[in-house]
Amino acid sequence: MKLPIMFYQRLFKNSSLTIFLFLTTFINAQQNQQLTIYSSDKEQSVAVQKIMIDADYTFDEALRGSSIPSSVKNKLDLVSVKYYGFDGKLHQGQIIVNKEIANDIVDIFKVIEKIKFPVEKVVPIVEYNWSDEKSMNDNNTSSFNYRFISGSRILSMHANGLAIDINPKQNPYVKNGTSIPAGSEYKLKNMGTIEPDSKIVKVFKEKGWTWGGDWKSLKDYQHFQKIIK
Ligand SMILES: [Zn+2]
Repeated sequence: MKLPIMFYQRLFKNSSLTIFLFLTTFINAQQNQQLTIYSSDKEQSVAVQKIMIDADYTFDEALRGSSIPSSVKNKLDLVSVKYYGFDGKLHQGQIIVNKEIANDIVDIFKVIEKIKFPVEKVVPIVEYNWSDEKSMNDNNTSSFNYRFISGSRILSMHANGLAIDINPKQNPYVKNGTSIPAGSEYKLKNMGTIEPDSKIVKVFKEKGWTWGGDWKSLKDYQHFQKIIK
């Protein structure tokens, strides 16, 4: 039997349309999955709010351009964290940390999210071309950066991913009356400020971390670190 050419044309047209619709639906579903979180508080899962994605790197992408020895790279992990931003919305970011403290960071960020302590952004420092200064000026929260302690040739605790800096603009590094980043000020009650008696300081200390806000010769209010034995 010979079918008229019109039949084939129509068949082709319809099936292309079907494939197109299928793909569109599939892609939309994938995107929504990434942007919507579900509450498990109730028995029925209900979409509760959109989540803002601040960083979406793979492990290798997040370390691109860093000249770290493989012995250091093997100690690192990329951790996803959630937090409420300065806009009051729920955000998801990423942080490169030492594997030894990855669980601490996950637990601490669960508290940060629960008490809604505002964190402006958490983005791997590769986004700032490995410049701590650029990252701080953008008020970015970060951990790993293969660098020396400012003004020295001693590797920082950040070089092993064993320290974290949170909201640098509200929690500056202060020495001899100079604040870094420039123009920043440590002022209690400002949004995102780490206060000495706060839950956030308490939860770090419970897990064996020290806080730069307790140091005497200088203050590094953004900085928490943990010595691994
Ligand atoms: Zn630090």
